[in-house]
Amino acid sequence: MHVATTTTNRDSEPETVRFAPSPNGLLHLGHARSALLNWRFAKACDGRFLLRIEDIDTTRARPEFERAISEDLNWLGIVWPEPPRRQSEHFADYSEALAELRRLDLVYPAFMSRAEAASHIREAEAGGRIWRRDPDGAPHYPRQDRNLGETERKRRIHRGDPHTWRLDMQAALKGLQANLTWQETGTGPAGETGRITADPGVWGDVVLARRDVPSSYHLAVTVDDALQQITTVIRGHDLFAATSVHRLLQTLLGLPAPTYLHHDLVRDETGRKLSKSDGDVSLASLRQKGVRPEVIARMAGLS
Ligand code: GLU
Repeated sequence: MHVATTTTNRDSEPETVRFAPSPNGLLHLGHARSALLNWRFAKACDGRFLLRIEDIDTTRARPEFERAISEDLNWLGIVWPEPPRRQSEHFADYSEALAELRRLDLVYPAFMSRAEAASHIREAEAGGRIWRRDPDGAPHYPRQDRNLGETERKRRIHRGDPHTWRLDMQAALKGLQANLTWQETGTGPAGETGRITADPGVWGDVVLARRDVPSSYHLAVTVDDALQQITTVIRGHDLFAATSVHRLLQTLLGLPAPTYLHHDLVRDETGRKLSKSDGDVSLASLRQKGVRPEVIARMAGLS
């Protein structure tokens, strides 16, 4: 991977932000908030706004949703200077990063299916063990596969056993020279701002490459933010905890650390965050109903 800088001194670079939706559904007011915050930030500092299409999940991504993303953003008055970076066209970049982590002996092939892992965890919990969960509520992956010998790993891979690649979190944390931190310029619900101490260990052995795709969200976002020279990552507060993983991967791969601005989410009347999969009202349908873009901004909590 060829990245221009490996330090955080970026005084001479233009501010660069990105809006990074996944084309697996229509955008809603939450996306409008994120996109407009990125756009206004870029405008205010004469910086660059980039669009990134996060379509590594090739089973769910659809070209019609990508087209709809462009239409919605243009309607909101947002334009971008260069073609979007489509993650599905850059798997080689993520594989290169994974190969680097393999060289450092910080990843391992994980062979348990979701059901096998779940039953292993159920048994351990039935035996009185407290099983740790990550900030999204998913149980940590059992450590068994980490302890498989090299010969056994090779044998199973050679045999064609399906596997993901996971970060060996304990080993990764052991090698760190200092506490990981990041600069947060948002003010989250709990007032998190300023220098934040990262806590990647709460995530366990995160997936870095899936069975079907040679990457994962965490790996692709880390690599792309560096390759696209993103200086400030502006995104929803639901990704605040994931930033700890991204800071760890940046450090392991020698990549620069952007500043982060995690913004409040748009919620419905019951306080639930909006979601494509719950069929929340889309920007396209609001547009069809004749709602004006400036009203969308207000509906998304912006002036
Ligand atoms: N692709 C992610 C989403 O649609 C956003 C990732 C990010 O901004 O880091 O929620």
